[in-house]
Formats: sequence, structure tokens, C-alpha cells
Amino acid sequence: MVTLPATAGSIAPAADTVPANPWCGPLVRRLPKVTMAQCQNSALKASGKVSIKGFPLLVREVPARIKNAEHPDQPPIKVLLIGGIHGDERTASSIVLLWLEALNKPVAGEFEWRIAPLVNPDGLLAAKSTRVNANGVDLNRNFPTPNWLQEAPLYWKKRTGSDPRRFPGKAPISEPESRWVFDEIEHFQPDVVISVHAPFGVLDFDGLSTTPPSRFGRLMIDRVGVYPGSLGNYSGVHKNIPVVTIELPNSLVMPADAEVARIWQDMLNWVQHNVKSQTPVSSHISASASESAKTAEQAGQDVAVQVSTAVSETVPSVSTPESALVLVPAQSIAPALTAPPALAAPVNEGSVSKTIKEPA
Ligand SMILES: [Zn+2]
Repeated sequence: MVTLPATAGSIAPAADTVPANPWCGPLVRRLPKVTMAQCQNSALKASGKVSIKGFPLLVREVPARIKNAEHPDQPPIKVLLIGGIHGDERTASSIVLLWLEALNKPVAGEFEWRIAPLVNPDGLLAAKSTRVNANGVDLNRNFPTPNWLQEAPLYWKKRTGSDPRRFPGKAPISEPESRWVFDEIEHFQPDVVISVHAPFGVLDFDGLSTTPPSRFGRLMIDRVGVYPGSLGNYSGVHKNIPVVTIELPNSLVMPADAEVARIWQDMLNWVQHNVKSQTPVSSHISASASESAKTAEQAGQDVAVQVSTAVSETVPSVSTPESALVLVPAQSIAPALTAPPALAAPVNEGSVSKTIKEPA
């Protein structure tokens, strides 16, 4: 387990103050190295959305607790961290759940977090855990990349041989689980998305203007291409919100404790030095925004949404149309289902054809 005790005041309530979570029983039986106490103390909450089979989609929302040491006037970097979008990659869910205990490390406290360790609970909890959800859909091929309706079914048939483990669904974000991730990206507007998978033992990266990580722990970068409907393609290429895909080396056996901690620390360091906050804030109002943020934080509100709404009309010009997207209040962004801007790269045929595996 990660070494930090789960006793850090507001971000990790003591066990006797946490109501029993009925979902922990089935989950811990499937999650290597996660104890019942760790699940109960995880402070995960039902998001209000549920899987096909009605299992709550669980999330932990953690505001930034301390200012950015190097840039105290900057809004916090917002990180969306998800695990288990493929239900049979059990370690991917375990490691994200265990990392919840390390949120009081210094660098992590500078970021604002949305953390969902179990994006595909039906796949995880199936009699035999499955990659796909209860509708047989690969959630990581179900995101609304450009020309999804043409490309995703064609890719599935021609390139995967209609592999049932990679069925993209009949329409983009047709599934409640992928829809939930899509909505989180729209509403939370993360500066970076980190998605944990297994078992290919590499890092992958999708993004247009961010320096990729070279390694987290023993995992080395190996960029292998993009697929229609994948989260990396949708968020990293289409929306220019960088996506780091962590592929653990084994789906059922957790890395050693030291490696779990090292991946986490390397990830935090990379985010701190390479990810820029896209929350708009202009210099002349930054002081008041900071005060608003402080007040909102004390009140337990969503700091970033407050700041973003307050300053969205006064930000300086930005260089790309994709960046401009983040300046629009979340509620005014229409879901890009059928005609997103033609910004995404096509499927990387060369890379895909040379690789037998299809990570993530
Ligand atoms: Zn996967």
C-alpha cells in the first residue's frame, strides 16, 4: 500500500466518521491489494450516475489545498484521474484507489482533482471480469472523435477483425460510463487526463502542445498510435487536453509498493512541470480571483468553476481554436457529437499496423 496514513483531516476522514459504503464488499474481492478499510476510507462518493447495471459511478472531488509554490497567483492545475475503463484490468482500478491515500503529499495538494478509480464497474464485477461494459461496448472506443460514425465501425471490422473486446458501440458516447467521463471533461475542464490501464507496461501520451512524460517509475513512454473513439484521441488530439495513458505491466498482480509510490510521484512531478492551467485568469484580477478562490475553498465549493465564470470575458487572446474552447462557460458548450472541428489526426495506420498489441 501507499505509505501515507489515511488520517489527513479533511481529505481523508477517520474511519469512524465514514458511513459504510455498501459497494466496497463486491469491489474489494476484485481489487488486488485493496483492503476493506482502504475502500471504506477512500471517501469515494456516488456521482449520481450509474452503470448499465445500476452500480454507482464513484468519484472523489478534491480541491487544491495549497498554492502553487512557483506560481502562487495561478489557478490550480486540474487533473482528471481515472482507472478501470476496461473492467478486466483490475490493477488499474486498485492503483488509483490506493493513490487516494497519497493526496496529502505536497505536490498533489497544489492540484484540483477528480478521481474515478472504477469507470467500468459492470466489467470489473462480471462473473468473469470483462474489458467491455455490460452492453459489450469497449468504452475506450466510444468517445466522439471526428467522423466516429464512419471510422469507428470500419476500424473495428477491418483492423480488429470485429474483435468483441473492442466493439465501439453503435453511436459515440452511447454508454452511461463513457458519457459520464465525457461530461466530467465538459464540466470539470481538466488540464490533463490520466487514465490507467494494464497490462502492456508502458506509458502512452496524446496531446498537441504538452511535453510528454518520458517515464513514470519503470514505465517508459511508447507512443503507439491513436484509435477512433479512444479517450486519448478524443481528449488529447481533438480537444487538446493532454492524456497520459499508464499501462501497468499486469492486470491482476499489483506492482511492488515502492513502484506504486514511484509512479505516483513521477506523475505528480511531470504534471507540475509540464501541464499548464487553462483556467482563464487575467493578471489585473488575479488578486481578487485568489480571494474568491480562498472564500470558495473555505465554503467547500468548486473553486475553479467560480474563478472561470468570473473572468471568462476578460482573458487575453489565445493561440489556437482548441484553447478557445476552454474560455467558454461549460454550460454553453454543446456536445460535439456529430460535427466536431476537423482537428484530430487520422488513425495512425503506420503505427497501428506495425504493432500487434493495441494498448489501452
Ligand atoms: Zn485498457
